[in-house]
Amino acid sequence: MATSKNSSNGRKNSGKDGSGATIWATDPGDLLLVGPTFDLSSLDRAATPGWTGDDDAADAFRLQRGELLSEMQERLFAQARAGGGTRSVLLVVQGLDTAGKGGIIRHVAGLMDPQGLALRSFGAPTAEELRHHYLWRVRRSLPTPGKVGIFDRSHYEDVLVVRVNHLADVDWDKRFDEINRFEKQVVDGGTVIVKVALMVSREEQGLRLMERLDRPDKNWKFNPGDVDTRSKWDDYQAAYQVMLVNTSTHYAPWHVIPADNKWYARVAVTELLAQALASLELTWPTVPWQVEDQKRRLAATMDPATLVKAAESAATEAEEVHEETAAHADDVREVNELAAVDANGGASPEVAWGDDVAQEDTVAATAEGDQPASGGQPAPAAEAQSGGKGKKKDRKKGKSGKK
Ligand code: AMP
Ligand code: MG
Repeated sequence: MATSKNSSNGRKNSGKDGSGATIWATDPGDLLLVGPTFDLSSLDRAATPGWTGDDDAADAFRLQRGELLSEMQERLFAQARAGGGTRSVLLVVQGLDTAGKGGIIRHVAGLMDPQGLALRSFGAPTAEELRHHYLWRVRRSLPTPGKVGIFDRSHYEDVLVVRVNHLADVDWDKRFDEINRFEKQVVDGGTVIVKVALMVSREEQGLRLMERLDRPDKNWKFNPGDVDTRSKWDDYQAAYQVMLVNTSTHYAPWHVIPADNKWYARVAVTELLAQALASLELTWPTVPWQVEDQKRRLAATMDPATLVKAAESAATEAEEVHEETAAHADDVREVNELAAVDANGGASPEVAWGDDVAQEDTVAATAEGDQPASGGQPAPAAEAQSGGKGKKKDRKKGKSGKK
């Protein structure tokens, strides 16, 4: 679904259930947000927070949102290409084996034009990557202006698999601070970061791994090491817990997605991505030359009969563009309005991150240098105390003032 052209018919129905109510009862961005008191052990991984429809409704809604995602992504791209735009979006997808990372990439990122995407999967570091600081490969993979970057795993593996398997001798609190400073720098550079952690239950992971073994067409997805990783389940949960509360910041918050229902995880991440893109208030770029001048120049090269044809289609297209622009504005408004609704149906509350956010905002830039990744030693400049670890507030400015 690379374009919304010619697809406005029926679009108004798919976002609502039969009764005309919206299917998201509450902003999933609020329900899934990781705050300082987040407790992973009490997460119901089969839950579908905020969603009032069924799985089919979720798939239909995701496709409808896909049209919006696609249009917003094209605007983002156009702004960078022709409008001097510097904004980009980065979706960070974390989760254990079988959590559904690949499904998110196919069914959420896949809603957008591949030309506007920058997908990067992070596996075990190569020999070259190991010679550098762990953020080296991440920095090189950041989306350029106009792109929607997708990280399939990320620098967070360096506080998860590396921690659980004791692959490096690291001060984890310092590494969390370093990651927070790195992400602050990325956000200040114009990138909106959306971080999602997909969480399946242990039972569901067992079922999905067994399916990979039972089905010859899925054998290839299985890695014997997956069973070793699974046997360290509790260690991974503990590593995720501390990672999540220490690196969910107001500028790059974590959202934890219950992922036993694949359809839920996909529609929830779609909504989060739509909110991120909508927050950029993307318009089409205005060009630095006069359209009328160029039309005159072009017309001088065309014969009169073709010019009549062009004038005819210009009239129909003007109407279509007008309709599509209005429909797009409606959809963006719907996304923004939902983002402003909290669990009580009112305006979203400020999350109580604590009071030393300012300190976190003013830390020195990350300068990780060339320290080897698995040596795990943060660069001296990057070790400057950030102070604000775990203290965040809502990044959606104006959100609580919206209603
Ligand atoms: P997959 O996502 O199934 O292709 O697997 C990628 C593997 O690379 C996973 O087992 C990750 O834990 C591993 N991996 C990713 N980043 C790192 C890292 N920084 N250090 C060690 N292993 C990693
Ligand atoms: Mg795997």
